[in-house]
Amino acid sequence: MAKLTVSDLDLKSKKVLMRVDFNVPIKDGVIGNDNRIVAALPTIQYVIDHGGKAILLSHLGRIKSEDDKPGLSMRPVAERLSNLLNKPVTFVPATEGSQLEDAINKMNDGDVLVMENTRYEDVKNGEQVKRESKNDPALGKYWASLGDLFINDAFGTAHRQHASNVGIASNMPQTAAGFLMEKEIKFIGGAVSHPAHPFVAILGGAKVSDKIGVIDNLLDKADKVIIGGGMTYTFYAAKGMKIGNSLVEKDKIDLAKEIMDKAGDKLVLPIDSVVAEKFDNDAAHKTVDGDIPDGYMALDIGPKSVALFEDVLKDAKLVVWNGPMGVFEMSNYAEGTLEIGKFLGTLSDATTIVGGGDSTAAVQQLGVGDKLTHISTGGGASLEYLEGKTLPGIAAISEK
Ligand code: AMP
Repeated sequence: MAKLTVSDLDLKSKKVLMRVDFNVPIKDGVIGNDNRIVAALPTIQYVIDHGGKAILLSHLGRIKSEDDKPGLSMRPVAERLSNLLNKPVTFVPATEGSQLEDAINKMNDGDVLVMENTRYEDVKNGEQVKRESKNDPALGKYWASLGDLFINDAFGTAHRQHASNVGIASNMPQTAAGFLMEKEIKFIGGAVSHPAHPFVAILGGAKVSDKIGVIDNLLDKADKVIIGGGMTYTFYAAKGMKIGNSLVEKDKIDLAKEIMDKAGDKLVLPIDSVVAEKFDNDAAHKTVDGDIPDGYMALDIGPKSVALFEDVLKDAKLVVWNGPMGVFEMSNYAEGTLEIGKFLGTLSDATTIVGGGDSTAAVQQLGVGDKLTHISTGGGASLEYLEGKTLPGIAAISEK
């Protein structure tokens, strides 16, 4: 069954509570990158264009003590939102009480209000009570009482059961997905529940241990699983190959063997690597086939691996990519990730999905994102979704 979305709702003159993901990087009140605010604009704009009163809730960072609060106020976010929407946005420096309730009651159709960081509720009178993060039933009920409708557009927190997502939803007759959430459900949810074939997964990044759930789940669903990045060398070790000083998780070598046994020829490993004497962009480096020589560490896949992976990918109808192929943050070791990203951009018959976290950072930094079908906004949430887990934030959205 399909999920209810914002476009199914009658928004006119309604108080519309919206859980958005405004968890932006912020330092001394200055926003480092406003991508997440920009990403929430389509749903907010839709709500106000249809005469709704948009009441926005989001968390920002982690609040463990009263001292954390001033630096993690939502005020600068509300100001940035006002600039981006090109209209006034009311900021209420409270998460409950008469100041908030009065401000909501004064709203006109099409107005936008941002309330204070939902995680301010995690610390009360100096005590860490985690009302938001532990989904205090009274808090979700209270927030739900402030609105007529609830829209959840915060995919990044969908793997968490918090008062501002699951708590509100469980006290509302209906909860709808915003446009961002709808896209994540369609693409990431679709890839794991009813993938098109051939389906190729590309899994990279530093550690096998972080990705084991994803490897396991996608091995069952995909036709091929390509491995790259630092985790390659735990697989190399499991095959008895030399790995030099490359990243390895010794306690995961047996697991890597089990995965290889289960996967057979579904699993595709790099056949060459860019190796360096040190973990340093300026270190002496070269490309080698197979074994990693003593005194070197592998920091990227080599050109033969890129060609091999492209051959596996060329007929794919669906590609899910999670994790870079090398240390893309250093220009000398970014080539493998860049080449794979560029190649995915040429696959016009395939749905190409980037699964969040560092992979999203990689495609953005390397400028290859705009030719891909979907770049997930969630890190932990996309990983858990790809593991096939039910995300509480999504489960709490009503069916149509
Ligand atoms: P993850 O968060 O697991 O997706 O891992 C991303 C990180 O893995 C990035 O910061 C990369 O620099 C790092 N990484 C990728 N390949 C390697 C490698 N061969 N050796 C060490 N780190 C790597």
